[in-house]
Amino acid sequence: MADQVLVTLDGQVRDADAPFLYADDLAVVRGDGVFETLLVRGGRPCKAALHLARLESSARALELPWIGPGPWTHAAGVAVREWGGDREGWMRLVLTRGRESGGPPTAFVTVGPVAERVVRARREGISAMTLPRGISVDMSATTPWELAGAKTLSYATNMAALRYAQARGVDDVVFTSSEGRILEGPRSTVVIARGKKLITPPPEQGILAGTTQKALFEVAPDKGYVCEYAALYPDDLLAAEGVWMVSSVTLAARVHTLDGVALPPSAAAEDVASMVELAVEEVGVG
Ligand code: PLP
Repeated sequence: MADQVLVTLDGQVRDADAPFLYADDLAVVRGDGVFETLLVRGGRPCKAALHLARLESSARALELPWIGPGPWTHAAGVAVREWGGDREGWMRLVLTRGRESGGPPTAFVTVGPVAERVVRARREGISAMTLPRGISVDMSATTPWELAGAKTLSYATNMAALRYAQARGVDDVVFTSSEGRILEGPRSTVVIARGKKLITPPPEQGILAGTTQKALFEVAPDKGYVCEYAALYPDDLLAAEGVWMVSSVTLAARVHTLDGVALPPSAAAEDVASMVELAVEEVGVG
């Protein structure tokens, strides 16, 4: 039995073990849809407002119908009540173009348990390798149909890159552009520390605007950190005083090894971990 909750956008709780999608759903056959993944903690969805805003902008980029945040907030509320407040979970919000044969979009919310791998990454950090993504940082400006910056359901490339790394004993991937710039992880944003400065690559270079990084940058100035968007190269990561891959469910995973090189312990490690914890509790509370 799946340890999951499934709620459709009409607020109905469904059997998460029963067949649900049609075989011609365009998400199934084309990856044609958008989604969000967020953390459920203390019986509520974290950074809900930021995730709903990004879901809307992804939906608009794909010209999917958007009926407003209300039904999503309601369905997410039903799902967290079903899940309970005792344990953390991940929540997915999924919107697809619906059936190829026509009809309304498919829209649902699921909640499931946070994997052991995630808890370990928070606690022990991760190894990562740089891999070329084969795209230029100019891509999003010149080829809007590439949907860079939208969180679409077409994640096969991202998952293939992770399998490539994991087959070589490495936990995660840092994508680089054809110019050799740092882009992002397959499911996270790269943030580095340089003294009391936190730096992340600009979203305009064709990457997803991360809600965790955004929330971190909202709380960090109060803790004495200057936050900046700037082009980064692999050498900047090797020379940094801390490298993190931040994302909604894993939160801050410190990179302890990059391309086989052990990175020194970071003086900012505790600060960044606690600022991300604070950020997901306080920013974008819906
Ligand atoms: N970049 C990519 C490609 C992602 O898939 C994700 C999250 O899934 C992120 C960045 C981080 O985004 P967030 O912090 O909103 O989870």
